[in-house]
Amino acid sequence: MRLSCPVCGFPSLEDPPKSPDGGGSYEICPCCGFQFGFDDESEGISYDQWRREWIKKGMVFDSGQTNPPPNWDPREQLKNLSD
Ligand SMILES: [Zn+2]
Repeated sequence: MRLSCPVCGFPSLEDPPKSPDGGGSYEICPCCGFQFGFDDESEGISYDQWRREWIKKGMVFDSGQTNPPPNWDPREQLKNLSD
């Protein structure tokens, strides 16, 4: 099951962004701040749009609760997305 963020590639989400029946998890990615099922379905923001914004803002680790993983490298992480 895919637990990486489809927006920023962060590899350790708690839940899959989409459940098997298609509903969003409502989890907020601790890295880019995207909330699955809200920002996409209610707000109509695409992953690509959010990713461009996130990159433009300097790829800041968004969470107020979790620290970035040690040696966190947003550029490396974005490479996870190519699949
Ligand atoms: Zn993310």
